[in-house]
Amino acid sequence: LEKAFSFMLRIRLPGGVATPHQWLETDRMAMQYANETIKLTTRQAFQLHGVIKSNLKRTIKEINDCAMDTIAACGDVNRNVMCNPNPFLSSVHAEVIQAARDISAHLTPQTRAYHEIWLDGEKMTTTEEEQEPIYGKTYLPRKFKITIAVPPSNDVDIFANDLSFIAIVENGKVVGYNVAIGGGMGMTHGNEATYPRIADVIGYCPAEKVVDVAEKVVLVQRDYGDRTDRKHSRLKYTVQDYGVDWFLKQINSYLGYDLEPTRPYHFEDNGDRYGWVEDEAGNFHFTLFVSGGRVLDTPTYPMLTGLREIAKIHDGDFRLTANQNLMIANVSAKKRAEVEALLEKYGMHRAHEQSAMRLATIACVALPTCGLALAEAERYLPEVITNLEEKLEEYGLRHDAITVRMTGCPNGCGRPFISEIGFVGRGPDRYNVYLGGGHAGQRLSKLYRQDVAAGEIIDLLSPILKRYAKEADEGEHFGDFVIRTGYVNATVQGDDFHKN
Ligand code: SF4
Repeated sequence: LEKAFSFMLRIRLPGGVATPHQWLETDRMAMQYANETIKLTTRQAFQLHGVIKSNLKRTIKEINDCAMDTIAACGDVNRNVMCNPNPFLSSVHAEVIQAARDISAHLTPQTRAYHEIWLDGEKMTTTEEEQEPIYGKTYLPRKFKITIAVPPSNDVDIFANDLSFIAIVENGKVVGYNVAIGGGMGMTHGNEATYPRIADVIGYCPAEKVVDVAEKVVLVQRDYGDRTDRKHSRLKYTVQDYGVDWFLKQINSYLGYDLEPTRPYHFEDNGDRYGWVEDEAGNFHFTLFVSGGRVLDTPTYPMLTGLREIAKIHDGDFRLTANQNLMIANVSAKKRAEVEALLEKYGMHRAHEQSAMRLATIACVALPTCGLALAEAERYLPEVITNLEEKLEEYGLRHDAITVRMTGCPNGCGRPFISEIGFVGRGPDRYNVYLGGGHAGQRLSKLYRQDVAAGEIIDLLSPILKRYAKEADEGEHFGDFVIRTGYVNATVQGDDFHKN
């Protein structure tokens, strides 16, 4: 008798955009083959959890049947390309989502093995090397993550990714992109040779060169990334070891032309804007807060059912945000009342009537689903916030969007090392607590207390929050305050992350 293996399936969605049909199909597969929930990930992808082995192939086939796939959602290749869901400028979104799709398509592995194994495709007759002009037969040293942001929103966290593009918009059009390289979150407890790193912004390219630049950065990493130690093989270590200037020279040499000087840009935050907005074309977008990115039905809050009913009548699209929330996007003026009525019927219209801190949370899957988790995250962070909310009310901080992220281990899928408060699992019910990340995700945090018992978190943070409420300068963010007042030192770059 074989063991009852079950699997997680990650569905790639470049830029996080899904059609209503794709939403309905994902919902159907979640109900039929998985655990009746959809997880919206921090990389704008869907995850289905608990797919048993005998249903695996059928589920992957049905995912492909609705024009989605699971290829390159894992492995030492480029992963899901993220893109700012920007509800305010629909024409800019059309340009950046196209760039995200172009980069994604260009960097998707060409191998037919996926089709042969999962989709009953024809047997491969060529070698991997012949099929993979970019990756070759050895692929990349490690996974590779790309994002595109449209300032002033850094909701995709460009500083936490291997390669990012910051859209430069002039007269309502994207004229080009600043290029950022060398960000990344993962580290290993007790191994100071591993650390998170903030990406460096190294130059600018015209919009039509964005795929070329993405390819050449991938090629430099393919050729120079460390293949001897997987804990030292991400692009961030290549940049740190060889230096930013060296890496830029390599990119220019591979391109055959030079990146131009970086253009001015400004990020305000890395959060989402909830509720309705109208764009310049007269369409409407509703951003729904989804705690931990988990879409499911509970007796008091049938969110999965409500979104199913909306998808049946929706004439726009769905956009997953990098903060694990969901935008019901491009609702036409004539459909808005219908969508609004369904949001109200299923209780979703008020989902964002929460403390600003809760709305600024991210939690990775962690226990019981992720095999690497050392502690709870998605199931526990809401409780921490509930307990903190009592204090926030008392101190008058209910409307302060202090970013809080919790992950079950230091791999950092929820990008905890750039939040203003970060909890990283160390063991059952124990967390390292980090403070001082930048409010716009532009600065790494610093370890404040190691190995804190879950039950001690509120007592640890309450006095700091109380002091922040009383002593913060006008407009000063919590992450800046804890540095100014000496709770932690600022972390300038990854190599001083472990220094106090
Ligand atoms: Fe990622 Fe670790 Fe969270 Fe698992 S427990 S999802 S590996 S951060």
